[in-house]
Amino acid sequence: MNHTLAIIKPHAVGSGNAGKIIAHLENSGFSIKAIKLLVLNREQAGAFYSVHEGKPFYEELVDLMTSGPVIPMVLEADEAVEKLREVIGATDPAEAAEGTVRNLYAESKGRNAIHASDSDENAQIEIGFFFPQGER
Ligand code: UDP
Ligand code: MG
Repeated sequence: MNHTLAIIKPHAVGSGNAGKIIAHLENSGFSIKAIKLLVLNREQAGAFYSVHEGKPFYEELVDLMTSGPVIPMVLEADEAVEKLREVIGATDPAEAAEGTVRNLYAESKGRNAIHASDSDENAQIEIGFFFPQGER
């Protein structure tokens, strides 16, 4: 078993889809190992997405991620990182496979409902960002 980080983005929490998304993840075989709800400030959101700094969508992404509460969670499964990327679907919902989280709940490429780690290394860094060692 290994771990990955998912974040339900503010617009999906605000539109009342958090519970459905969490159920979708559980029904897909993930167990929730940690979960919280918090509001990120611009410094935190910018740091979390620093890999995208300078890209045309970066400011909009920071705006989105600070627009309301997010729900980060640590998910456990076999091959958790790869599996979660499959379950959420492509970044752009127009390209996300039928029945994926983004196919069902994304509004646009930016407002795409959920974040997921893209490698085991980044999963460990991103888990530490929201759930520091001492808090687990
Ligand atoms: N994003 C966007 N426009 C783009 C690419 C990305 O608004 O052209 C946003 C979108 O919310 C995405 C996030 O930036 O989820 C991070 O981008 P990444 O390429 O890492 O996509 P992801 O890993 O979330 O599928
Ligand atoms: Mg990414």
